Formats: sequence, structure tokens, C-alpha cells
Amino acid sequence: MIRNVTDTNWHARSAKAVLSEFASDLGGLSQAEVERRLYQYGSNRLPAAPRRRPLKRFLIQFYNVLIYVLLAAGLVTLLLGEWVDSGVIFAVVLINTLVGFTQEGKAEQALAAIRDMVLPQATVLRDGQRVTVAAEALVPGDVVLQEPGDRVPADLRLLAARNLHIDEAALTGESAPVDKSIEPVAVDAMLGDRRCLAFSGTLVTTGHGRGVVVATGLTTELGQISGMLAEVPTLVTPLLQKLARFGRWLTALILIAAAATFTFGWWLRDYTLAELFMVAVGLAVAAIPEGLPAIITITLALGVQRMARHRAIVRRLPAVETLGSVTVICSDKTGTLTRNEMMVQAVAMADAVYQVSGSGYGGRGEFRCRDTQVEPAPHLVELARAALLCNDASLTRRGAQVQLSGDPMEAALVVLGEKAGLAPDQERRCGPRLDAIPFDTVHRFMATLHCTSAGEALILVKGAPERVLAMCEFQRGQGGEEPLDSVYWQTRIDAFARQGLRVLALAVRPVAPGRTELGFADVETGLTLLGLVGLIDPPREEAIAAVRACRAAGIRVKMITGDHAVTAAAIGQVMGIGDGRNYLTGSELDGLDETALSEAVANIDVFARVSPAHKLYLVRALQARGEVAAMTGDGVNDAPALKQADIGVAMGLKGTEVAKEAAEIVLADDNFASIERAVEEGRTIYNNLKKTILFILPTSAAEALVLIAAIALGTLLPITAVQILWVNMITAVTLALALTFEPAEADAMARPPRAVNEPLVTRYMAWRTAYVALLMVVGTFGLFLWERSQGTPIDTARTIAVNTLVLFEMFYLINSRYLTAPVLNRAGLTGNRIVLWAIALVVLFQLAFTYFGGMQALFGSAGLAATDWLRSVLVSGSVLVLVELEKLAMRRFGAGGSSRSTSISASQIDSS
Ligand code: ATP
Repeated sequence: MIRNVTDTNWHARSAKAVLSEFASDLGGLSQAEVERRLYQYGSNRLPAAPRRRPLKRFLIQFYNVLIYVLLAAGLVTLLLGEWVDSGVIFAVVLINTLVGFTQEGKAEQALAAIRDMVLPQATVLRDGQRVTVAAEALVPGDVVLQEPGDRVPADLRLLAARNLHIDEAALTGESAPVDKSIEPVAVDAMLGDRRCLAFSGTLVTTGHGRGVVVATGLTTELGQISGMLAEVPTLVTPLLQKLARFGRWLTALILIAAAATFTFGWWLRDYTLAELFMVAVGLAVAAIPEGLPAIITITLALGVQRMARHRAIVRRLPAVETLGSVTVICSDKTGTLTRNEMMVQAVAMADAVYQVSGSGYGGRGEFRCRDTQVEPAPHLVELARAALLCNDASLTRRGAQVQLSGDPMEAALVVLGEKAGLAPDQERRCGPRLDAIPFDTVHRFMATLHCTSAGEALILVKGAPERVLAMCEFQRGQGGEEPLDSVYWQTRIDAFARQGLRVLALAVRPVAPGRTELGFADVETGLTLLGLVGLIDPPREEAIAAVRACRAAGIRVKMITGDHAVTAAAIGQVMGIGDGRNYLTGSELDGLDETALSEAVANIDVFARVSPAHKLYLVRALQARGEVAAMTGDGVNDAPALKQADIGVAMGLKGTEVAKEAAEIVLADDNFASIERAVEEGRTIYNNLKKTILFILPTSAAEALVLIAAIALGTLLPITAVQILWVNMITAVTLALALTFEPAEADAMARPPRAVNEPLVTRYMAWRTAYVALLMVVGTFGLFLWERSQGTPIDTARTIAVNTLVLFEMFYLINSRYLTAPVLNRAGLTGNRIVLWAIALVVLFQLAFTYFGGMQALFGSAGLAATDWLRSVLVSGSVLVLVELEKLAMRRFGAGGSSRSTSISASQIDSS
């Protein structure tokens, strides 16, 4: 039984003592023990900050100018004894707040669920095996491995530290990373001086380490300070801010218009004060687009949910808006454009080239040399052994099932060893690893130190061929060591790379027995090259299609890879990125001045052998050209480029925690195609917002203008103030909401990206608003006047006017489904079922309004005859045709007379 874990000074004790205190060992705990401890200590999690309570969320809905206006009006009408008006006004308030309350709740829930999808993970040793688990599942005594980019998942007593530096700013505020070691420190050392501990929530910047978990959850240092996770951020995005500003401005304008109407009616027309007061309230309520912020929030939240279903998890909401403007996507190659299911296809030795057969991670396959099957020669076996030992991956086979842990490329090298007749476990036992220089994208190789069963010590190196070649003086021939023939190897590297193979070189160097440490100086020279391996990494079919789709959407795709230039160019060509000939390497980039760099980023699509620093350099150069750039990354050093990019995209599977935290979007499947789908979704969301605005503005304006026009002309009101409140209430929660469910338009990815600085309401949108509002007012008012001239009683004429206005909105809702494309076709009329449901619901409401006795008493409505309805439908249906004609004219002449493509002209109109 282990002791209570909260009362001990782990930093003052030796690593070994702490390990045994937790009844653990270097191979970690057993799964059964982990489960027992999980039960005993609970999961390694801080309680989430309490969500806003429903009552608070409900009350917050009242914090809104419109509601103030309504409440004041409700009170005044109550005082005036206008029970019906006052009742309707309070009902409007209640319905408005309820709708806002439920919509916001749903949006919050959707976003919280998405945030849970990027839970931190940790690499631990369990039963001696390296496994990746959710950080939540850690227990005291677990042995955790730490790499650059990891966020320390619990408080650890370090057992090993190699150049391990940890940024503890989150805990101590100290920004310089702390150099960690395993030596115990004084009992009274301050938190920042406890160098043998790694604290939960801090960040590994460089080096590697492993440590035993000494505290989890609330018992960690961080847990004791903060006690809970950061609160869920609010749903504020630049667009919502823009909208809030626009809304405030509009509200002020509308209130002035309402006051002016009131004053005008009072001075120049003879309406009663109560009547005018209600008109002013009715028109203010009708014109203020109060539902818009809630609708936009829900549109964003729904879109984010849809993106998550497409494996793109949005971490920052504003990204959704930027996505639609992306003009260039810079993507890693390995695993994002390619499948990262590697297999060694060829091996080049000093005297021969072997083809290796087999498929995937199946351990069976044969070696062929000049089309003849051969038994692997001893020097080929030696190469395979080096590939197996200088390697961190492992494969577990259960029947036909293969479970892979570690880098897929390294796993492919384990399989190569198996094909050469080696048993991985036995090899690892016979040549145990004493020390290692881990792989790093900057130095591009990995080295390990082993002792052999014969008591010798060996350094094994594997890495990028040009890097390893530079360390070698000799090569392994059939008969032993020979001087290195660099020209021969260079031709082999080129030949492999031209076939799109990923090339690795393997080398060896015996050292004096007894060595236990490995440094960079040990591998710089004097190595013997064992040979080259060429690995295939097939492109993802769906990524090829996605690259094509991006091109059609006016988005350029650039490959930014650490791999060999010729390999990258060959794969790029297959994928439709670059022409297979033009590329730039990282070192070539270093030599460019600003103008040359700017030209290079414009013309070249493949950048190879780049380091993370180059990525930052490239993003900046692209942005300086006015591009809106998305950039992918996974390592800790990629974080600056991800932050700089307009859309940083981190890999969910192979990405480090740091990269994920720096990114706007995390790809759950590391797949390029998911970026393309996210862009499409981003465009759709923005389009849906535009459609909603384009629906709400003219309909709100029309509702208000009908009242203003009546007062201006001094006629009887065609629609009374309470009736306007009714219209506003039923249409705002039904029709306007339906557009948020619009699926992507067929040509969403056939248009160029939207300009980032496009205003919320473009000139075209302003024109459409005026055009439609005018049609609605003239239609509704005109029909009312005509009815009156025919002697229709006032209640009936008003009921006709109300129905006409609502029908206008229904027809225009159908127009609004597509911004500029025609809707008078099957897809246009029936493509969004929610639009049809919303229309059906409003029809029911209107039937009740017209025929239901209670409603007639409340709203002064009257039953209508079939011919009344017919006239209403004929008048209001005109909007469907007239807006379609307007769209047609815009498509034809709106963008310089180009009638060839609706899509191009559409977006040009949009941003004009
Ligand atoms: P991308 O940047 O597109 O993901 P990449 O995986 O090839 O491509 P890096 O991880 O930076 O980029 O690798 C650069 C080079 O380093 C590789 O081309 C390979 O030659 C070498 N390399 C990669 N992984 C290892 C490893 N585990 N051990 C040794 N060398 C490696």
C-alpha cells in the first residue's frame, strides 16, 4: 500500500526512493493496478468552472435595448388600461427572452462538446509498453514520458532528464524555461527551484524526460492554486462585434424614426395619443432586428458542430469567419497529404539495390535483387538490425491485427527487420539501448548507443541521407568496410527520391566498450554507412481531390515539408501541387532577399527540407502579399508559424499539445481533405449569415415602413401596432431561423475567396434590402387601399394586409435560400426541409390568426374568403418572381456583363 501522496517532499528525495514509495518501477504500473488507483484517487482532472446558471442566462436576456423599449411600452399601455396591447407586448418580451435563452444554451452546449474533443493526452509506460492515454487517466505511480511540445499532464518526480527544459510561466510566472535534472534539492527549495519536479500544466520546450506521477488533479500544484479549469470563453467574434456595432447604430436610428413618426402624427395628423404611442412601439420592435445576434451565434455554433463532424475541430470561433477568406493553404506532406502508412520498398547497399515486397505492416515479404528472390546477405541483415534498434516504434500483433505505437515510418523499419528474419524483442534484449539522441526536425537524425551481447558498444544513426552521409567516412560492402563512395550514394538517393520514395540513411560506429553516454560529438565523423532505405508513403486519394477542389475555389495549396526536395516534388506532382520540377529548399530560402522571397512564395508551390523557422518566414511573406494563409503544423517549434498564420491548423493525432494550443483548428484525422471541407463549411456559414441578414433587414424594414407610410399619408393603419408585434413575433422565431440550416450551395467552392475586409452589409445587400422592402410595402399597402376602395370592412382589410405581409416574407424566404443563384427549380424550392417546415408553421399561425375566435378578439382580425387569399397570394408571390429577375440581372450585368459564370459574378457582386 502506498502512503498518502499529499504530504511528502518528493523534490528532496532520490528518484529511486520516490519510485518505490509509489510501488512503481521503471516499466510503469500494470493496467490492473492503474484501475485500482484510479478508483482510489479519482481521475486526473480539475473540476470545470461552473457554467452560467440557467436563471442568470435567462435574466441576461433582459439586458437588451429592445426589451427595455418593450417593457416600458408594456407598462405604459398597462397604465392606459389597454389590456390587450399590454398583454401582447409582455408575451413578445417573454417569447423573445425564451428564444434567446434556448438558442444561446444550445450554442454553448455545442461549443463545450467540441472543446472536449481535444482533450490532452499523455504517453506513459504501462506493463513496460509505451502507450498513449488521456491525461485524465493518469494515476500516482504512473511513469510518464515527456517530449518537446508536451504539456506536463500531472506533477512528476523526474526519473530521467535529457536536456529537459520546461516553461513554468503558467505556474511561477517565470518566462525563461527551467533546466531540469533528476538530482534532489533542499527540502525548503522554492517551487521554481525544485528542478527534479515537473509540474502539471507547464510546458516542455526542449529535451526529453520521464517521471513518476506524484500528484494528480486537485492535489497538483496547479490544482491547488486555480482549483478549476478556465471558464468557457464567451461567443464573441469579430463578426459579432461588427454586428453589435451595426445593431446599436441601427437601433438608435430606428428609435429616432419612431420618435419622429410619433411627433409627426401628433402635430400633423389626428391620431390618438395611445394609437400613436403603439405605432411608435410597434415600428421600433418590428424594425430592430433583435433576433440577429442570437441567430448568428447559433449559425456559428451549428457550423462548428458540422465541422467537427468533418473532423475539423475549431478551437477559436473567429476562425470560422476567416476560413471563408483563406487564399492559400500551406500543408505538411507526411501524414496530411500522404497516408503515413509507410512501407520499405527498396534498400540500397554499396553493391546492390534490393526491392522489398509485402503489404502494409504485415511482417511477411521477400527481398529481390534484379528480379530474383534472394536471402538477405549478412550486411543487409546488419542494416535491418540497425533500423530496428535505432527506433522508438513498436508493433503488437494479435492474429491479423497490428497495433502500432510510435512513428509509422519507424514502424515500417521494424517490419523491415522482421522481413530480414529478426525478432524485434530478442534484438532489443541482446542489444539494449544505453543512451540516445532523439530525432529532431532541426538536426534530422536520431542516434542510439547500444551494448552488444559480445560486450561491444555501438552507435547507430538513422536520418536524412545528406545529413548522415556527411557524418560517414566508410561504407559497408560485401566484404567489410570500404571508403565512402559519395557519388554512388548520391545517385541512389536521387533515384529513390525521383520515385517519390522517402529516403533514410543508416550508419554505424563501434566505440570503446563501457561507454554509457552519447553526445553530438560522437556522431559527427567516422561513421560507416550501412545503406539507404526507400519508403513509400502513398498520397491520400481524398487529399488529391481536395487539392483539386481548392484550386477550383481559388485557393492555392503549397507543400511545406521537412522531406527531401526531389521526393516532395515527385509526390507534389502526383497530388497536383507544383509541376514536379520547381521547388525551393530551406537553405535556398535562407539566401533570398525580401523581393526574391516574395516572388518565390508567389510562384513556387513545393518547399522542402524546411525547418519550422522557415514556416514562419513563409507565412509572413505570404501575408505581406495580402494572402490569407492557413498553415499546418505539429511540433513544438511550429507554434510560432501556427500563431502567425491566419488559420493555424494542428494535427490531432501526431500534433503536440503546444501546436494544438497555438492553432485555431485541430484536425482529428490529420487529413488535408478535412481542411478543405472546413474551408467549404466556413464559406457556407458566412453565406448563411449573409442570407439571414439579407432576409431580416428588408422584412423588418417593411414591417416598420408600412406603419410609417400610413402615418405619413394620414390613412387608417393597414396593420395595427399589435398586429405588427404579432407578425414580428411569429416570423422572427420561425422564418429567419430556417436559413441557418441552409446546406452548402453547389458552387460554394467554385467561387474565389471572400475579401477579408468585406463589410457586413455590402452595397449590393443594401440595394437588395431597399428593393425588397419597397416591394413589400407597396404590395401590402396597395392591396389594403384597393380593398378599402372596394368597400371591404376595416378588420377584413387589415387581416388581408397582415396575411399579405407574412406571405411576402414566406416567398422572400425562398428567394433568400441562394444569394444570387436561381431558386425557381426543384432544389431551390424544396432543398431545405426546415424552410418548408417553417413556412408550414407560419401558415398554421396565420390560419389561427385569421379564423380563431380568441385571436380575432385579441388582434381584431376577421375570417377571409378564398378570393381574399388568392389576391394576397398573387400580390405577395410577385416578390418571388421579381427578386429572381433582379438576381438574373445582377448575374448578367452586375459584374461587368459577364454572363458566363454565375459563381464568379456572384461573389464579385457580394464584395462590391
Ligand atoms: P512533413 O514536414 O511534411 O511532415 P517530414 O515528416 O518528412 O515531412 P520531418 O519530420 O521534418 O519532415 O523529417 C525530416 C527528415 O528527417 C525526413 O525526411 C527524414 O529523412 C528524417 N527523419 C524523419 N523522421 C525521422 C526519425 N524518426 N529518425 C530519423 N530520421 C528521421
